[in-house]
Amino acid sequence: MAEIRLVDIEKKYGNFLAVPKQSLTIVDGEFLVLLGPSGCGKTTTMRMIAGLEDITSGDILIGGDRVNDKPPKDRDIAMVFQNYGLYPHMTVRQNIEYPLKLRGMAKADRAARVQETAEKVELDALLDRRPSELSGGQRQRVALARAIVRKPRIFLMDEPLSNLDAKLRVTMRAELKHLHHELGVTTVYVTHDQMEAMTLASRVAVMREGRIVQLDTPKRIYSEPADLFVAGFIGSPSMNLIEGAIRGGVFTAQGVSLPVTVSDRDDVVLGVRPEDLEIIQRDEAPIQGRLYALELTGDSTLVTLRTGKASVCARGPADFEAEINAPCHFAPKPGVRIHLFDRTSGQRID
Ligand code: ATP
Repeated sequence: MAEIRLVDIEKKYGNFLAVPKQSLTIVDGEFLVLLGPSGCGKTTTMRMIAGLEDITSGDILIGGDRVNDKPPKDRDIAMVFQNYGLYPHMTVRQNIEYPLKLRGMAKADRAARVQETAEKVELDALLDRRPSELSGGQRQRVALARAIVRKPRIFLMDEPLSNLDAKLRVTMRAELKHLHHELGVTTVYVTHDQMEAMTLASRVAVMREGRIVQLDTPKRIYSEPADLFVAGFIGSPSMNLIEGAIRGGVFTAQGVSLPVTVSDRDDVVLGVRPEDLEIIQRDEAPIQGRLYALELTGDSTLVTLRTGKASVCARGPADFEAEINAPCHFAPKPGVRIHLFDRTSGQRID
């Protein structure tokens, strides 16, 4: 079992509280993504699991054993970082072989294991090259191969794809996902890229200012964000968030009038995703304004209208055309989720 349990762990750097006391259980075999903006404590949390950072208080258990005082090398963890950390003077083969050598595996066994691992990440044709003779994606695969070669209980990955160009990131994402499916190793993965989190994770822990604000499946994080922060962070383009009030079962803001099931209150934020809105021609539409911008994305057009001070974006058909500043009307598609949040606390109301 390679379950990881963080129990009331806390991290202070001097007087600065980087991670306030919290607990988290990462289930055996799961792919858990720590997601959040820069400085929210993702790397600190990861480094505490690895043993690269002391914990100020609390316990870390791996497979039921308390590892607080165990050095990184005794935690049976393999790590992959964004800068790969490859040895430049070694060939690909030697790089991949190195962790096995460190652990004293016999030469013949090492050769077989390196070959098997290289095939898994499609590096078998490049084993005699040096890192300087590889592309970024190939280097990243060497780093991965070096991590998986000794079959650790746990993978820790800190923004492993962030140095790659956009296209390669997408390819490597699929490779990581496939690899996890094949190996089933418990994985903790740090990223600030919500798309990476959504596509890779079995569960996502969204972090803000050191705290986990929501821990859920990608699907639930997307469809039931716990608060305004998560609602605004997940999704591209992000969820429309419109400030207003509820009167007589209707959410009202300038240019917006939408029936809801919450009783009267002020200081409400209504959330609706661009993909849940459609462009309609009727004059009595629930969202009315003037067309502000059209952005063709390929398979769709992002249509932004302005209702007084608020902007609202809908994902419309690729062939949608209209004059900028012309009247423009949106309505939620039938049956979609309309989100309501308290403006002051940010918490979900409905
Ligand atoms: P990024 O995505 O930018 O890497 P992160 O979410 O991984 O950010 P951390 O590196 O965990 O964030 O940092 C969390 C907080 O702790 C930040 O405010 C950071 O400035 C602070 N911090 C990190 N390392 C130290 C340190 N050695 N000494 C003091 N403060 C630190």
